[in-house]
Amino acid sequence: MIPFINLEPQLKLMKEQAMRALNRVYDSGHYILGSEGNQFEEEVKKYLQIPYAIGVGNGTDALVLALHALDIGPGDEVITTPFTFFATAESISRVGATPVFVDIEPKTYNIDPANIKKAITKRTKAIMPVHLFGHPAQMDVIMDIAKEHTLYVIEDACQAFGASLNNQKAGTFGDIACFSFYPTKNLGTLGDGGLIVTKHKSISDRIRLLRHHGSTKKYFHKEVGYNSRLDELQAALLRISLTHIDAFNQNRKDIAARYNQELEKINGIGVPTKQLHAEHIYHLYSLDLKNRDAVQAMLNKEDIACGVYYPLPLHLQEVYEDMGYKEGTFPIAEEKSRTLLAIPMHPFLTNKEQQTIIKVIQSGGAGITI
Ligand SMILES: *Cc1c(COP(=O)(O)O)cnc(C)c1O
Repeated sequence: MIPFINLEPQLKLMKEQAMRALNRVYDSGHYILGSEGNQFEEEVKKYLQIPYAIGVGNGTDALVLALHALDIGPGDEVITTPFTFFATAESISRVGATPVFVDIEPKTYNIDPANIKKAITKRTKAIMPVHLFGHPAQMDVIMDIAKEHTLYVIEDACQAFGASLNNQKAGTFGDIACFSFYPTKNLGTLGDGGLIVTKHKSISDRIRLLRHHGSTKKYFHKEVGYNSRLDELQAALLRISLTHIDAFNQNRKDIAARYNQELEKINGIGVPTKQLHAEHIYHLYSLDLKNRDAVQAMLNKEDIACGVYYPLPLHLQEVYEDMGYKEGTFPIAEEKSRTLLAIPMHPFLTNKEQQTIIKVIQSGGAGITI
């Protein structure tokens, strides 16, 4: 069996460091909002080259807190992509605002800036691009649109820690960016965790307040907030993972390059595109297949795990039925939900495993191109 993702080798690599860190926290007597969290925030700020970072409970909370901190709520519209994990749009709905979907680019599967312009109304408050699968969205173009129309930009960078565009890290373009440290994310921890980064002190201050019951002084509350903090155990583990993230991301890029080289020649297979000046960190490696379901069945038969991201675009989800989106509204997102298949990708996928996966796909022949 070749698993889709295997955390074991990276956990093994970091085990001694991790055990020391866990011991340290265990004995410290501080488990929420202590020195590990503070130090992680400092270290991640340095890594991303951004002035403010706030650890929070998870990536979804990060998005909700970001929207709340910008006072986005009922009556407001936020333009986003229908081709993402549900949490992106869920956060917008959670604060009472309306997610306005627009179709994606056929090559990167990220939100298409040309469609953003057409969707702007008087109610539009923000744009929420997602760096899908680890490829940065066209942030330069999106920031220009935002500036022209005085809109906020919240980057959903939950799949793209360490990715970059024009040598600038994903998550440092917009007003706010959100990261997730869910265990299978490219920078993951052993539980839930999330992060918000921003260039604006006022937003950072508000989010610090909001994540902790609207309070800066114990038992004194300035506003109604949340209970959403990155705990000390997760922060201690993340401080270690952060020192390995560049190596892990480089492994992903090397593995992607080998997949690309062997698979792009095959008729009926599209390999992931990397735009000029973009660094893709391949949180997921998805093939674009004429005959997706046949390839998926073939891989499963050979005990190779694979996954569909995402089988139903958000505008067609039952939860958004009342919005009245019909099939055909966003043809590219709908097509990609039928043609993309993610194959095993993690920093420790072995050469041997990769060769097996490539051989099975190469042997697919007619099954792939029909
Ligand atoms: C994982 C993910 C989230 C949510 O993160 P959690 O930590 O699981 O809450 C949000 N958006 C995208 C694009 C994600 O991949």
